[in-house]
Amino acid sequence: MTVYRKWYCTCTGEPIELTYDEILEDEPVMPVCEFCGASPSSDPRKTIIYRDEENWDD
Ligand SMILES: [Zn+2]
Repeated sequence: MTVYRKWYCTCTGEPIELTYDEILEDEPVMPVCEFCGASPSSDPRKTIIYRDEENWDD
């Protein structure tokens, strides 16, 4: 079982899932909102939220 953390930005009034680029080894990549540019580490307007989703496929 794997837990995936999905990030969302609520700047448009509803949660928009943030997109990651390809995740490289040893190089943590932060998702960025394509609308306002906020990310989990740079969230001045507190619009970033996340949900943890479990994947039981593996
Ligand atoms: Zn946003």
